[in-house]
Amino acid sequence: MEIELNSRESAILEEVRRFLKSEVTPELLAESHHLEYIYGGEEGRKFVRKFAANGWLTPCWPEEYGGLNSSEMLMYAIRNEMAYARVPIHFAGAHMAGPSILRYGNDDLKKNYLLRLASGEIEFALGYSEPAAGSDLMGLEMRAADKGDHLIVNGQKTFNTHAHVADYHWLAVRTNLEGPKHKGISILIVDLKSPGITIRPMITMAGTRTNEVFYDDVVVPRANLVGEINSGFKYIMAALDFERMFPFGHYKKFYEDLVAYLKTVTRNGMPLTKDPLVRQKLAQLEIELEIIHHLYFQLAHMLDNGKIPNYQASMEKNFLTDFEQRLANTALEILGARGQLREGANGAILDGLPEWLYRWTVIETIYGGTAEIQRNIMAQRGLGLPRA
Ligand SMILES: Cc1cc2nc3c(=O)[nH]c(=O)nc-3n(C[C@H](O)[C@H](O)[C@H](O)COP(=O)(O)OP(=O)(O)OC[C@H]3O[C@@H](n4cnc5c(N)ncnc54)[C@H](O)[C@@H]3O)c2cc1C
Repeated sequence: MEIELNSRESAILEEVRRFLKSEVTPELLAESHHLEYIYGGEEGRKFVRKFAANGWLTPCWPEEYGGLNSSEMLMYAIRNEMAYARVPIHFAGAHMAGPSILRYGNDDLKKNYLLRLASGEIEFALGYSEPAAGSDLMGLEMRAADKGDHLIVNGQKTFNTHAHVADYHWLAVRTNLEGPKHKGISILIVDLKSPGITIRPMITMAGTRTNEVFYDDVVVPRANLVGEINSGFKYIMAALDFERMFPFGHYKKFYEDLVAYLKTVTRNGMPLTKDPLVRQKLAQLEIELEIIHHLYFQLAHMLDNGKIPNYQASMEKNFLTDFEQRLANTALEILGARGQLREGANGAILDGLPEWLYRWTVIETIYGGTAEIQRNIMAQRGLGLPRA
């Protein structure tokens, strides 16, 4: 699958590349890395506003909502360039909540949020998971009591990654206790500064931050209900497909940096990249990168042709996250003990990225739906196999 762009879009992509080359500062790179490529930090916000002013954050949105009316292919290509440049790439608002508002929101919601999302002014945090509802989101219990012109929300979320730097919560709540579980869920947009919200850090094994979020009698105006009440599960499922379409540029960049580094290391009088075993391992990774390229751009191609990638998004997420672990493992195998030195340590290779990646890539197989859940989706919806 090649990147299929018309001449206007190709020119835009070139401009994006030039912009990224000239505007990405060491400060932005450091912040982006420490915030795990999410958006919300001071440097990230500055950068994104300038970037988004060109319509590049949401190019496939209609122009009236801050887009460029372009193809999904351009959107995917830009996201991948951003990943390659190692700037923030996870935009819960622009890439997950925004498309759902476009599709299911009323005119007021569209007016209130879409332009601000497209310009990088505001960001959302995804509020789905709870202590007893992760893979099985239908079991979520955070309660929103319907009071007519407002709702009162009580309960706890867990693993809500952007919550400490975002402006709004894209919140899944239970609005009906009767009937089937999936018909009692709604989506609310909540201002994270609302009284009654407490956000507590949860630090992952990669040293990055996600959060627990507690709601204590939080008042949410009814105007902030997305789509129909009790239809939220349908919206979550659609947004999850979008969440699973991961760009791969940052791993391509890591691979290229690794190869460039190995060329500088000599063993038995020749560069490590001439060692047959090392060459074989690197060739295998390069083949897999090529596969990911095809899986990723296939998703854009499907969207541009009016299809919703569902098990295909799971295939891409699953292959990419498995690949990342092979990439990190292989890097550490080749680099030996020094590869385990952390960022900042004397003698750390590639500023400790191999060691960090080894820890980080475990996490990628969990969020957005675990690898086991992706395999279930592929088996059932892709291969038509029965439920286990
Ligand atoms: C770093 C990080 C960031 C996250 N960010 C967010 C966020 O911003 N917003 C948000 O809402 N959530 C977020 N999550 C939550 C994430 O989506 C859940 O952790 C994930 O869906 C798994 O849910 P769980 O942790 O409850 O595990 P469980 O669902 O309890 O699963 C435990 C294990 O059982 C397996 N399993 C469960 N059901 C099945 C099944 N049917 N078949 C086979 N195996 C199964 C799972 O694969 C897993 O290995 C984040 C998680 C992490 C780790």
